[in-house]
Amino acid sequence: MLSTGLYEDFPTLKMKINGKRIVYLDSAATTLKPKQVVKKLEEFYYNSYANVHRAVHTLAVRATTEFEETREEFAEFLGASPEEIIFTSGTTMAINLAVVSLLRSGILKEDDLVLVSLLEHHANFVPWLRLSKLHGYRIDFIRPSGRFGTLEMDDLLKHRDKNPKVVAITGLSNVTGQRIPVEELRNVFPNSIILLDGAQLIPHEPVKPKEIGVDFLAFSLHKMLGPTGVGVLYGKRELMEQMEPFLYGGEMIDRVSLEDVTFNELPYKFEAGTPNIADIVASREALRYLKETGFDSVHEKIEQLTQMALKEMMKIGGVEIYGPLDERQHGIVSFNVKGIHPHDVAHILDQEFGIAVRSGHHCAQPLMSILKEQSQIDFPNSTCRASFYIYNTEEDVKILVEGVKKVKEWFSR
Ligand code: PLP
Repeated sequence: MLSTGLYEDFPTLKMKINGKRIVYLDSAATTLKPKQVVKKLEEFYYNSYANVHRAVHTLAVRATTEFEETREEFAEFLGASPEEIIFTSGTTMAINLAVVSLLRSGILKEDDLVLVSLLEHHANFVPWLRLSKLHGYRIDFIRPSGRFGTLEMDDLLKHRDKNPKVVAITGLSNVTGQRIPVEELRNVFPNSIILLDGAQLIPHEPVKPKEIGVDFLAFSLHKMLGPTGVGVLYGKRELMEQMEPFLYGGEMIDRVSLEDVTFNELPYKFEAGTPNIADIVASREALRYLKETGFDSVHEKIEQLTQMALKEMMKIGGVEIYGPLDERQHGIVSFNVKGIHPHDVAHILDQEFGIAVRSGHHCAQPLMSILKEQSQIDFPNSTCRASFYIYNTEEDVKILVEGVKKVKEWFSR
């Protein structure tokens, strides 16, 4: 059973889908929101809302203070300084910002090599690929050689002598749930700019970019109990100081004349226009909720649920499960039931059992092609994905396993 506190904090958990209690297993797409976050939004809009960094009136000062305190709290969370924390609309924008700004500032140049893993979400794949076509830098891929898309250490080491300018890699795969050995990246690529996509990792494990030696870290608050429309880009100060802004406009400038402009200091030079003030401030409540719960206990609980789900799902014949199937797999179980399209599986799980799982290619088409190579079924270029978070229980896993068994049974009649 869920602790009463958690149950009360997440009103969505009381929802019924076709008369069944909802079993929300789609947190890798976005998490449910606790009351504290929603309450903060209302409270902020009614009592502290004004534009930030502009006016001197009381309300504006209150809003700016809350906004900058939020930045400080994220800086502390990541072991960084506030100037290194850029608020964006999400991971996608954070990564686009890094790529485009590296190019505009000439740090990433024609003929340089960018290494991208084939585990990536399109957000950390398409920008690098597409801009290589337009700007002429070289791109090479870190291919996972292990079981169903599992990245092995040798897959990284293979590229060690290529001296890439940039290495772009996820911390945890949104398809297989594999946790990448991010602590090893700096050793393997001592001279490269390393960009870590933390969209799936940070909600489970607050790695500190400076400690592990990565230059950029991007993540989205909506995947860790916060509102949509808020992302964080951590960027190493020395790099960001040299970088040209991504967006131009208000707040990011120092002086504007008819000849040219000079830019504001960090982090403001990367935050043009009115930011998503209220959602950013409410994100602090999400971070606090997780900190109070304790990231260690969040991690441990999800670890248990993942291992239980893997063990039980593996017992069902005709179910193919992707990823390493060992302790490297965290929070995510992607699978297919032989002969049944994942959209059908997901639809029946929803309609008959109230289970919300994601089906599709999970914005990771290059990885889907790799899964297809090892698949023993007629792989549909997509999977069903169950993902767990803080509010899930063993009971949820049991309902999922029973649901999958039933779907299989009904289709084999
Ligand atoms: N990277 C990974 C690993 C993801 O799982 C996601 C979203 O699912 C993203 C990037 C993109 O995040 P957002 O849509 O919040 O920008």
